[in-house]
Amino acid sequence: MSNAPINPYEAMQASLRVASELYGLDDALFKVFMAPTRSMIVSLPVLMDNGQWEVFTGYRVQHNLTRGPAKGGIRYDLNVTLDEVKAMAAWMTWKTAVVDVPFGGGKGGIVCDPNSLSMGEKERLTRRYIAEIMDIIGPDRDVPAQDMGTDAQTMAWVLDTYNMHVRRTENAVVTGKPLSLGGSLGRNEATGRGVLITAREAMQRLGKPLAGATVAVQGFGNVGSQATRLLHEAGARIIAVSDSKGAIKNDRGLDIHALLKHVSETKTVTGFKGAEALDPAALLTYQVDILVPAATENQITEDNAPKVRAKVIVEGANGPTAPAADPILQENGVLVVPDILANAGGVTVSYFEWVQNRQGFYWREREVNERLVDYMTHAFQATFATTDKYKTNPRIGAYILALDRVAQAMKYRGFYA
Ligand code: NAD
Repeated sequence: MSNAPINPYEAMQASLRVASELYGLDDALFKVFMAPTRSMIVSLPVLMDNGQWEVFTGYRVQHNLTRGPAKGGIRYDLNVTLDEVKAMAAWMTWKTAVVDVPFGGGKGGIVCDPNSLSMGEKERLTRRYIAEIMDIIGPDRDVPAQDMGTDAQTMAWVLDTYNMHVRRTENAVVTGKPLSLGGSLGRNEATGRGVLITAREAMQRLGKPLAGATVAVQGFGNVGSQATRLLHEAGARIIAVSDSKGAIKNDRGLDIHALLKHVSETKTVTGFKGAEALDPAALLTYQVDILVPAATENQITEDNAPKVRAKVIVEGANGPTAPAADPILQENGVLVVPDILANAGGVTVSYFEWVQNRQGFYWREREVNERLVDYMTHAFQATFATTDKYKTNPRIGAYILALDRVAQAMKYRGFYA
């Protein structure tokens, strides 16, 4: 057993290799998929509130553009690396193909601690980053959205900076915007809603109802908190949640509305009165029906995978399961709904937002949610049909489904040399 940190790009490549072999992917296409099309590194001078200048490092990676413009979030975090952004860009290529929306894969990130930046510093950093990557983004080139450490306000600065440079209104350049700037109804909760839809489908596959199922959620940001609320409203019993400050549990079920109020006031789940403290590592192996990792990469590893007691894992986060953990979970009969399917609700409603911006015609929330259910259930069924056809696990099934769609498009286009 190795204690070396798991490189997320190597983790993506490991799954890609297994899927390509099983599918019988053409060797030339395999080589193309193993490396991103374009990686940009930028240095960002920012005037801090104390009058000093800091220089931050930013990245934008486009993994594959065959099926459409790149699509993918921008992450602000101290642990951002080029390889992490490359991994997430590739996952976006596969994710957009799994839900069959006409995008390729992209991702961006800035190495920074978003919690220690003032609003003014965050705005100046965002604007400088967008000015630096201006040439490679745009509604038909690469469309960013939010990710860890960024939100609708950040996306509004992205929009404004881009529009000031191109000197026209181009609100389809970014998704996850505030409603008043062309955002879509339902986008804020879309990733959490996708987790709900796929959790329900997974339970149905096991012949069990979602109502009454017990749930643990790791990470209580955009994805984790919305998934928690929606699963609770669907009748599931949320008994443990965590964030970067700690974990809490209540076996009788947490009072989710009181918890959401506590988090909006204190910015953490810890200290919530209706619960006891829990060791954050123990949350992943807690006795529940459904485990939702919704924080960050490599949380379920070969070390803790044998102890996972959940029947279903719905990957709200990107890359929460290390490649070595997958066979252990499969062996133990844990049904894993892989990230490129489970958290694709966000990019699906981002696609709806981009379509609405380009049409200049906006949909009601009910229409957005109905279309999301349609896209996600189709993607779930196609993923599991592929999984069954190739007698593999759902992650490799999802990769094969995606590979097949991207490969078909690439074969028609041919290689331009
Ligand atoms: P966020 O910044 O809103 O929230 C992240 C949460 O995780 C916070 O509560 C933070 O405290 C917690 N956290 C961080 N490290 C942790 C740890 N080690 N243990 C427990 N909690 C920890 O981010 P988000 O937008 O909710 O994204 C979460 C994950 O979902 C990321 O992997 C992201 O790439 C993925 N994702 C997000 C979206 C989206 O629409 N926001 C879409 C698809 C996938």
